[in-house]
Amino acid sequence: MSVPLIDGFGRVHRDLRISVTDRCNFRCSYCMPADGLDWLPREDLLSFEEIERIASLMVRRFGIDSIRLTGGEPTVRANLPVLVGKLAALGVDLALTTNGATLGLLADKLFAAGLRRINISLDSLRPDRFRDLTRRDDLHRVLDGIDAAVAAGLDPVKVNAVMMRGVNHDEIVDFARFGRDKGVEVRFIEFMPLDADQSWSSDKVVPLDEIVSTVAAAFPLVPVERSHSPAAVWQYADGRGSFGVIASVTEAFCGSCDRVRLTAEGMFRNCLFAVQEHDLRGLLRSGAGDDEIASVVAAAVMDKWAGHAINQVHFIRPRRSMSQIGG
Ligand code: SAM
Ligand code: SF4
Repeated sequence: MSVPLIDGFGRVHRDLRISVTDRCNFRCSYCMPADGLDWLPREDLLSFEEIERIASLMVRRFGIDSIRLTGGEPTVRANLPVLVGKLAALGVDLALTTNGATLGLLADKLFAAGLRRINISLDSLRPDRFRDLTRRDDLHRVLDGIDAAVAAGLDPVKVNAVMMRGVNHDEIVDFARFGRDKGVEVRFIEFMPLDADQSWSSDKVVPLDEIVSTVAAAFPLVPVERSHSPAAVWQYADGRGSFGVIASVTEAFCGSCDRVRLTAEGMFRNCLFAVQEHDLRGLLRSGAGDDEIASVVAAAVMDKWAGHAINQVHFIRPRRSMSQIGG
């Protein structure tokens, strides 16, 4: 029987985010420096068997029922569908976050392996701007990847767009129209201070209110009652779908956070913004049993703080960038 993975504030954790690699074929300006980062040596990455062991322990011991694979770029990890198959067999709600560039080749294989939900990151619909933002000329591949995900039967397909003032905030209505036309849910994400260049500043954040009022001026909206999900969602009044906003900065959802994270090299983190990590790979490779690993996980979650404090003077920026933690 499982016990809830609970922290000192009574929050129960059910959602595990697993980064399968720190490598990436893009270098998005809000995530990685222009000249890239030093990749982890291959032997430092958790093997699929090690990931499966930790995931299975989290499901059996703690009732984790939702797993999202992320990175770096998860699709650059060889044989990703094999890992998807292993995790789908755990009976969890399995999802993937990807830049979408290789989905034209992979979407069918991922679906066949058991993946059902996918988030594809896309921050500009304009080819020049897309190239400047990602440092790759791949907009057409990502757009094809979105079509391939829909055609493969993945449902829902969501499109994540990080909004940055002075960079792409003039595309809010274009993204809303894109989502309506394609039948995908766009999720606008507030820019967070996890960019490797440390160029984040609060004036670059496009707040939820502004995003919603901009969309509403183009398309009448109906609010959707808030669920436990971090996204606030609105439906288009004409019935042509919905969009969401993840307001991690201006309306932090820390109070209802149910997420824990595992980095590509097996570090357990109790928060995206955690400054402390717990080495599960070391435990696995030194022959630790499930009881020992479970007690480290439970203690790490008990230590979780109330919230990330981005808007306060005592905010401490994590040492790692988003690509190294896994979004
Ligand atoms: N490579 C995959 C991708 O781009 O979807 C998965 C990893 S990426 C780090 C996960 C998510 O984090 C993406 O949706 C990306 O847009 C988002 N992200 C990266 N840096 C961010 C930042 N500084 N603020 C907000 N979101 C960010
Ligand atoms: Fe790579 Fe995703 Fe970061 Fe872009 S957001 S650099 S695709 S990890």
